[in-house]
Amino acid sequence: MNTVENKALKEELLEKDRKYVWHHMSPHNDNPMIVASGEGSWITDVEGNKFLDGMSGLWCVNVGHGRVEIAEKAYEQMKTLAYSPMSQSHEPGIRLAEKINDWLEGDYRIFFSNSGSDANEVAFKIIRQYYHQKGEATRYKFISRYRAYHGNSMGALGATGQSSRKIKYEPLGTGFVHVPPPYCYRCPFGQSESNCAMECAKAYEDTIIAEGPETIAGVILEPTITGGGVIVPPDDYLAQVRAICDKYGVMLIADEVICGFGRSGQRFGHQNYGVQPDFVTMAKGLTSAYSPLSATAVRADLYETFKGNEPTSHFRHVNTFGGNPVSCAVGLENMNIMEREDLVARSAYLGEELRKRISVVAEHPNVGDIRYFGFMCGIELVEDKASKTPASPDKVLKVIQSCKQQGLIIGKNGDTVPGYANILTIAPPFVTTEEELDLIGQIVQNAMAQL
Ligand code: PMP
Repeated sequence: MNTVENKALKEELLEKDRKYVWHHMSPHNDNPMIVASGEGSWITDVEGNKFLDGMSGLWCVNVGHGRVEIAEKAYEQMKTLAYSPMSQSHEPGIRLAEKINDWLEGDYRIFFSNSGSDANEVAFKIIRQYYHQKGEATRYKFISRYRAYHGNSMGALGATGQSSRKIKYEPLGTGFVHVPPPYCYRCPFGQSESNCAMECAKAYEDTIIAEGPETIAGVILEPTITGGGVIVPPDDYLAQVRAICDKYGVMLIADEVICGFGRSGQRFGHQNYGVQPDFVTMAKGLTSAYSPLSATAVRADLYETFKGNEPTSHFRHVNTFGGNPVSCAVGLENMNIMEREDLVARSAYLGEELRKRISVVAEHPNVGDIRYFGFMCGIELVEDKASKTPASPDKVLKVIQSCKQQGLIIGKNGDTVPGYANILTIAPPFVTTEEELDLIGQIVQNAMAQL
């Protein structure tokens, strides 16, 4: 297509988009980028403009765009068996469950669903039912953290700790209580690194006691809060939370929807902290988003509780598309690619390389803090370093727009002030080259220089 034809196609699509499409998050987005194709770390819009995909879509295209191997597996599977419900079974589902269990280095049963939100709902429901069947029906509450995001459905949104995502949709699923996050830059307990007594971890125990230990079913957390602004906990935090869960007989759910599948520099984020969760929820990087699929890994011994004779002792939860054979074949090939190309180790390496290139903006007066975890980083923008006042929305937008003009897509996350995000996020695909990282570093520096 030549330039004139490209422009005409864009205008035609935009007109129809404005008429028919309701966009996620900002339905009135009248000028969306219309993406036509992707290759490696790059996406191309309908006019032929190329952009570095600095967020891997929504933190998900871990193996990069344009993987023909995955497309071929999907095609073969679609021809052979496009669909069969997971009340039966099929080879791609069985093989994928086995591989997920191997990567988890534990003993888990895998329940397949469609999205990260679904995977968390499944964890909540299994845990509540488990305690019912164990004669501890008073345990129904889950503890999560302020600033965390766990999904858009009523239960997962109940677990979410960002008010701006919740207001006007309440009442949500009930039984969710929140503790302050391990947010060292703005320590909720007013401490600094030198006098930190890990009150953020102790807050779990205080909350369990205050709520009544016999009412607490589980704790849900991401190994590092991602969408809430890349909030990396102190090294010992997760182990302390695990110990508190054990003390009170509470299940630990690791939400690995973003941290999983190499993003953290390990196969799963919790593996950085030497902790074994009871439940692990996953989506995004499970298929690198080539096809919708999520999974809830459940500690295998809990499964026994669901084998009773009366039907109400079974887990009565079904979703039509969960464990779709094509999605499972895609997930399996995605994980095989990560193994063949050693992409988890590469993610860890790229994380260090990203750090070298981004840390140069640390001195900028509007940069309050930069946080790194695996191959992701969050740059917290402030009005000035002394006051730490979150940077105004137009400052944040200016940097993002400048990056885009220079050909780089980055994200904004955080909700430090409810309703707007002041933390720039970068999480590129694991196939990003050193030269592309140079470009990312240079573009971010240029964009910051404009503030
Ligand atoms: N948990 C976490 C940590 C997430 O980041 C997300 C989505 N960004 C979800 C759950 C929900 O996943 P989904 O959008 O697939 O429902």
